[in-house]
Amino acid sequence: MKRKQIVAGNWKMNMNFDEGRDLAISIVRKLGPLKNEVILCPPFIHLNYLSVISKDIANLHIGAQNCHQKDKGAYTGEIAASMLKSVGCSYVILGHSERRQYFGEDGALLAAKVDTALANNLKPIFCVGEKLDAREAGKQEKVVEKQLKSGLFHLGETQFSNVVLAYEPVWAIGTGKTASPEQAQDMHQFIRKLVAQKYSVNIAEGTSILYGGSVKPANAKAIFSQADVDGGLIGGAALKAADFVSIINSFPQA
Ligand code: PEP
Repeated sequence: MKRKQIVAGNWKMNMNFDEGRDLAISIVRKLGPLKNEVILCPPFIHLNYLSVISKDIANLHIGAQNCHQKDKGAYTGEIAASMLKSVGCSYVILGHSERRQYFGEDGALLAAKVDTALANNLKPIFCVGEKLDAREAGKQEKVVEKQLKSGLFHLGETQFSNVVLAYEPVWAIGTGKTASPEQAQDMHQFIRKLVAQKYSVNIAEGTSILYGGSVKPANAKAIFSQADVDGGLIGGAALKAADFVSIINSFPQA
């Protein structure tokens, strides 16, 4: 099974309305016909506008950065998966390390969010990754395995096939330190092996696993050329149209 190659841009809490509109227009103008999937994940205020301008562009999708685990109700300040779907989102990032770190999101909560996202036809981009101390202690695989088991591996096969994975070593996010292509490949191969053990080789071969952590135009080609790396989740470099489009064009030619 040929799996999708994907570049997703996580704008985090950046860009007021005008800035976001200008960035999106600039990205769209620079894009050629897309061979791979591109997902823009801006703050909520941009979702409606972005889904309107991306509507007729093949392979360009919109994603959110979070959703609540409940369908609706008295949860002031939160956003429901059905609301995201109603403004044209197809994806939602869940389990980002910043959500785990600053908002206390743990495996049980993330499992509930994953269920709610899927029930509303949103595909989770589920993030896993170890902190520096775990990497230095050689415990990165244990950490990632635990995150997958607690947040994701309760899913059945059909549900799981709608999930995109992102390996994001926390020590590489926003720090300018990138995992080496070999470190990325080793972890992606390990994750794919876990998916094969839990589900099947076929499912594992069809699962897109993105790398995230200081991906830039200068290092994207080397990372994307690894056998088990199917693209990237991009933070800082997604805020500059030229850099983001250069990263989109960094897959090896088929
Ligand atoms: C991210 O936030 O998912 C990320 C990978 O950020 P950066 O590219 O800035 O390291």
